Amino acid sequence: MGTRDQLEPIETASRDTLAALQIERLKKTLHTAYERVPHYRKKFAAAGVHPSDLKELSDLARFPFTGKDDLRQNYPFGMFAVPMDDIVRVHASSGTTGKPTVVGYTQGDIDTWSSLMARSIRAAGGRSSDKIHVAYGYGLFTGGLGAHYGGEYLGATVIPVSGGFTERQVQLIVDFRPDVIMVTPSYMLAIADEFERQGFAASDCSLRIGIFGAEPWTESMRAEIERRMGLQALNHYGLSELIGPGVAQECPESRDGMTLWEDHFFPEIVDPDSGRVVPDGKSGELVLTSLTKEAMPVIRYRTRDLTRLLPPAARPMRRIARITGRSDDMLIIRGVNVFPSQIEAVLGREPQLAPHYLLEVRRPHTLDELEVLVEMRPELSGKLNAEQIVALAQKAEHLIKGYVGITATVRVLEPGTVERSQGKAKRVVDRRPKT
Ligand code: AMP
Repeated sequence: MGTRDQLEPIETASRDTLAALQIERLKKTLHTAYERVPHYRKKFAAAGVHPSDLKELSDLARFPFTGKDDLRQNYPFGMFAVPMDDIVRVHASSGTTGKPTVVGYTQGDIDTWSSLMARSIRAAGGRSSDKIHVAYGYGLFTGGLGAHYGGEYLGATVIPVSGGFTERQVQLIVDFRPDVIMVTPSYMLAIADEFERQGFAASDCSLRIGIFGAEPWTESMRAEIERRMGLQALNHYGLSELIGPGVAQECPESRDGMTLWEDHFFPEIVDPDSGRVVPDGKSGELVLTSLTKEAMPVIRYRTRDLTRLLPPAARPMRRIARITGRSDDMLIIRGVNVFPSQIEAVLGREPQLAPHYLLEVRRPHTLDELEVLVEMRPELSGKLNAEQIVALAQKAEHLIKGYVGITATVRVLEPGTVERSQGKAKRVVDRRPKT
């Protein structure tokens, strides 16, 4: 057993010990941000708060939020709290529009990040004796390198495959016999398709654990991946603005929420409209404050991710529920708020449909129209006649109307027709004229 296979002391500490650590770290972070980042100094002054106003954790609610716009306004390096000389790495997240958001790391940050990823892999059941296949993209995206450094820190054997070349992914899984895979859930499904196409079954698959994140997914996708690849599929959450992957990890002991590493990130849930903090258990937008970041402390970052805080389970840290959507990728279709994840969950209820879908929104005249392109299950290919396909589409339309409350046109397609992602899946094409 490697030395890093054991839990860190904080993972078994009491809530009081954790809270004491959080307040100490939070005070330090607020002071550093205020003293070293002019943007925070200005924002705190405009809101009439000073770091010394924080006496207890709940006082954080008095401090202003940080959003993607703050990072964009200070593009590329204006949010850094240390001289460029101390920055050993940058990453960037491509937003849907405009400039990417850039994040920086000191050597200390890289060490923290690696240890948090190692902690996440260990919490998922990974050990130093394991081989880890990393199929998150390597590059400016934090997924690949984050997983890579975490695996090495744990003492495991990392196989740095990156995304793409799906045939080769399968070949390496078959030949190298990895125990753990880290990849986006949508790309895992594409790998599963190729695995089966090459004639392999779940019983041929060496993988024991899948650590899946970077995009929303559903319980039905979990069941499908587990069935087809014979592994335990666990949810993992992170975002580049806070550090990258390594923020929250689902433990096999409680597969109903991800333990948030609260000794490094302080969570709040706010009402997305009013910005007011809501109590634990209530749904809203996740707001995170970094507690140990050196290069780029982040104060009350509005993640836009919708979830709720759950009580601790396998660790003293609280958990976040599966992300149900983002407050900013919400589509408003004929006045109805629709999250792609809602449609995905509904399609998952129909056993004849596969979890490969694309939503297309158009406005041909004055009204919005939603078209849902979804594939039938591979085993149904060539077996359904035109009438049965239409009936299946109508059934899905009924489900969407019933559960989401909007009228959509569903087109059921042959397997393999919806373009596969090799990283984060693109689920929505909005063709409405921009007003
Ligand atoms: P990036 O900074 O490019 O890594 O993107 C981070 C975003 O990916 C988050 O804010 C979430 O919207 C999304 N994301 C990451 N992990 C998950 C997850 N497990 N479930 C749902 N969405 C996720």
